[in-house]
Amino acid sequence: MENSRTRELYQQVILDHNKNPRNHGKMKGASHVAEGYNPLCGDHLFIYLKIDKNNVIEDITFENDGCAISTASASMMTSALKGKTLDQSQNLFDQFHRLVLKELNPESEANDLGKLKIFSGIWQFPSRVKCATLCWHAMRGALNKDNSVTSE
Ligand code: ZN
Repeated sequence: MENSRTRELYQQVILDHNKNPRNHGKMKGASHVAEGYNPLCGDHLFIYLKIDKNNVIEDITFENDGCAISTASASMMTSALKGKTLDQSQNLFDQFHRLVLKELNPESEANDLGKLKIFSGIWQFPSRVKCATLCWHAMRGALNKDNSVTSE
């Protein structure tokens, strides 16, 4: 019962973000850019960031060509990271990564994942984990000035 409700919610959120991706488009004057590629699925994306002098993500957008999960994940990630500091972003990266590997149980461990918790069941589909984490690796690559990331 609980499981099918969770699955239904997951599908609704993925479909919604895939159909109406937030923060989609190229950014003019980005301070950080990185490209990500997931050869297993063919997902390809660019992440653009504008970081202000206080290390806050002033703006973040993405362009992509990929599956519904990679699109929805990038849409949700950019929504979650806008206005966050770089430290908070690194924290969220770690939490999201542990979530999709089933190392973090969002019900029993304090976390800042919010809506990103929707991805908590994805560890059951290992090939999909790479679709969901591609944008996060690209984001971190952009911040580290490592401008090309492959999720293998
Ligand atoms: Zn994919």
